Amino acid sequence: PIEPYFIGGPVIKGFGRGSKVLGIPTANLPAENFSDVVSEHTSGEPWLLHDFDEDFYGEELRLAIVGYIRPEANFPSLESLIERIHEDGRIAEKALDLPMYAKYKDTPYLRDPL
Ligand code: ADP
Ligand code: MG
Repeated sequence: PIEPYFIGGPVIKGFGRGSKVLGIPTANLPAENFSDVVSEHTSGEPWLLHDFDEDFYGEELRLAIVGYIRPEANFPSLESLIERIHEDGRIAEKALDLPMYAKYKDTPYLRDPL
């Protein structure tokens, strides 16, 4: 178990390179918001495990990073990548029900309005 990293910011436009088309939209956050979490240039693009009726660009999104599932990998096909991401989602959903992770839902950073 690690202490979570709390990060957030406005949801910004990405390249729209088709994650939504694949059924896996990722809400992009400004890369500079991650500089405290990882020092190399990176981005944060959470796929939220909830179906939304509309886009929410510009909205404030807050995250608690509580765990790590797997390293990056190359996949032999787009289908196998998509299947693996769905598996990642199932792993995350199960893990987030465990008390050791579920307790962070009540953390003020995630609960309090702006
Ligand atoms: P972009 O390249 O602009 O990030 P995406 O294809 O990744 O485009 O789509 C991401 C956008 O889709 C988000 O910014 C958000 O407005 C919307 N969206 C709708 N449902 C979800 C979801 N479940 N998870 C993440 N983003 C979602
Ligand atoms: Mg995205």
